[in-house]
Amino acid sequence: MTTLVGSCSCGDVKVAVRGLPLRIGICHCTDCRHESGSAFTFYAVWPASEFETTGQTREFRGRSFCPNCGSRLFSADEQEAEIKLGILSDAPTPLKPTYELWVKRRESWLAPIAGAEQFDEDRT
Ligand SMILES: [Zn+2]
Ligand SMILES: [Zn+2]
Repeated sequence: MTTLVGSCSCGDVKVAVRGLPLRIGICHCTDCRHESGSAFTFYAVWPASEFETTGQTREFRGRSFCPNCGSRLFSADEQEAEIKLGILSDAPTPLKPTYELWVKRRESWLAPIAGAEQFDEDRT
């Protein structure tokens, strides 16, 4: 089974996920824009049992980041772990979004991803 690994910028925090994600998305909402400092977030969700992390993190509204370098990392609870895919060691990743959220906030110069389900706001 495939394992993908990643880390924060400074390397204090490491993550690993096993197998295929449950879903892969992009979100253009204002929360994601503020959190990332960018135009959207690119993430995938794995069952919590397939997710491991080492190193100390801090959380803001359920979103974990490295307190040393500030890299945004993941949101995890007992069921699921949503990983920001920009932290993976391999770039590009082998993962392609299957849906886009909050497309009404998408920058005008970004095209919809071919084949990805489009949602005006959150997933219904
Ligand atoms: Zn760090
Ligand atoms: Zn969002």
